[in-house]
Amino acid sequence: MPLTPAQQAEIDAQRARSNETRRATVPGIESHLYTAHPVLDHGFIRVIDYMGDDSAITQAARVSYGRGTKAVSNDEGLIRYLMRHWHSTPFEMCEIKLHVKLPVFVARQWIRHRTANVNEYSARYSILDREFYIPAPDDLAAQSVVNNQGRGEALTGDEAQRVLDWLRDDSTRAYDHYEAMISQDGQQGLARELARMNLPANIYTQWYWKVDLHNLFHFLRLRADAHAQMEIRVYAETLCQIVKDWVPFAYSAFEDYRLGGAQLSARGVDCVRRMLAGQEVTQETSGMSKGEWREFMDVVRAGEA
Ligand SMILES: Cc1cc2nc3c(=O)[nH]c(=O)nc-3n(C[C@H](O)[C@H](O)[C@H](O)COP(=O)(O)OP(=O)(O)OC[C@H]3O[C@@H](n4cnc5c(N)ncnc54)[C@H](O)[C@@H]3O)c2cc1C
Repeated sequence: MPLTPAQQAEIDAQRARSNETRRATVPGIESHLYTAHPVLDHGFIRVIDYMGDDSAITQAARVSYGRGTKAVSNDEGLIRYLMRHWHSTPFEMCEIKLHVKLPVFVARQWIRHRTANVNEYSARYSILDREFYIPAPDDLAAQSVVNNQGRGEALTGDEAQRVLDWLRDDSTRAYDHYEAMISQDGQQGLARELARMNLPANIYTQWYWKVDLHNLFHFLRLRADAHAQMEIRVYAETLCQIVKDWVPFAYSAFEDYRLGGAQLSARGVDCVRRMLAGQEVTQETSGMSKGEWREFMDVVRAGEA
């Protein structure tokens, strides 16, 4: 784990404190608070704070005065209804604040999600740590031959070793030069804001990231998906577990309608209807392109041998 004893002591002290409050709290996410969940070789996700629970969603939907006027069992049904019908604003009533440590190339993908509040570690002000993401051998994959934006089988033998050596050596050399440039030992020392340009994209950065549940679900829908790059997907998967413990009804609806669900075009719906009526439908008679047909068949034939 990438934490120093001093950092761990700070976390332990924070976890040892508790406050009495009238606000809604959720035991499932209280157990995550401040803990650093490891991701990749040096990264982590920590929950710093949260606001709201499943009831906050239904309270807002009903604009109620208290915890709600209906039974808990109805809350789950209402949340499923809201999710099914894209009635999204009640989900914005819940918020979560995270501390994330991640490689810069993952951060570049993550930061594209604009509907969050971010404050990143300043490499103008502070010195970056000597920590680089080096993929595990199984994750050192070749370029995919079917998807330009994907990866295939893991590299093997001499090639795998050569790539790993280059990744380690280049990172080490770049950091050595970074340190040498900022050093004020017998020289002026280059400004940190300039010296950092020499560092590779696998160096780790950190930020606080605050987002509401609606936009977090959007992030998870895209980044926990099989098409997302593995290095961001593992963060999304860690977050999925946290969200499941925080708002179990909302997460379950999200899992059902978004993560596990599929969206069909009007042509897709027409094809399903024709198939159910016993007609043979092919790509040529579907009105879909080859790529669209392949994706459609992946949905309707999933699980077939
Ligand atoms: C598998 C995958 C591959 C990708 N490949 C590429 C790539 O090759 N190149 C690339 O540049 N990006 C790529 N992206 C990034 C992608 O295009 C989006 O930028 C990213 O997923 C963030 O999505 P978003 O804009 O919906 O999210 P957010 O920024 O969180 O926005 C959420 C929603 O808010 C609304 N919104 C937010 N800001 C605005 C705005 N200014 N105007 C109007 N509506 C707004 C939109 O409805 C948006 O969907 C890829 C993403 C994925 C998941």
